[in-house]
Amino acid sequence: MLKGYKIMKKAFVFDFDDTLATTDCCVVVRRPSGSGTRGLPVRKLTPAEFNTDVLADGEVYDFSEFRSDKFIHNANPTFLIHLAKEVHDSGFAVYVLTARADNVSKAIAEWLCGFGVKPVKVHAVGSDDSKVNIAKEKQKVLQTVKELFDVVYFYDDDQHNIDLARETGVKVYLV
Ligand SMILES: [Mg+2]
Repeated sequence: MLKGYKIMKKAFVFDFDDTLATTDCCVVVRRPSGSGTRGLPVRKLTPAEFNTDVLADGEVYDFSEFRSDKFIHNANPTFLIHLAKEVHDSGFAVYVLTARADNVSKAIAEWLCGFGVKPVKVHAVGSDDSKVNIAKEKQKVLQTVKELFDVVYFYDDDQHNIDLARETGVKVYLV
């Protein structure tokens, strides 16, 4: 290596749903029937719709489809899988940063490995039970990743996630 020349440490962080992959998973909105049983479905939301959804009084989210490994194993890659593969093969770090809950991290990592990409980590910031502030949680993770690398690139299909990510100084790309 030339004296004084420093290799840039780069990380590529990808959202999962509608960024790296598309699935048929939906979030079901239910209204409890009052008898303690599982409530009636009111509407179904795609991941993009969920990002901006607001619950009406008494409604709850049902994420059960997102907990199913089957949906992930059958996920369809988007064009960004080629970028992930290219940067991975160039020796750069690949992360996944998803609104899903942590129980599917392993399935997502396995799905990526099927395309020859081994992620450093799959950060799943969502929760099964409550709607956490996804954009804020993603921002926190990006802040941490940014401390480890010279340059961090972040890809996400949600404008709000991108806006908050930009505040951390990472390079952002709205998919
Ligand atoms: Mg997404």
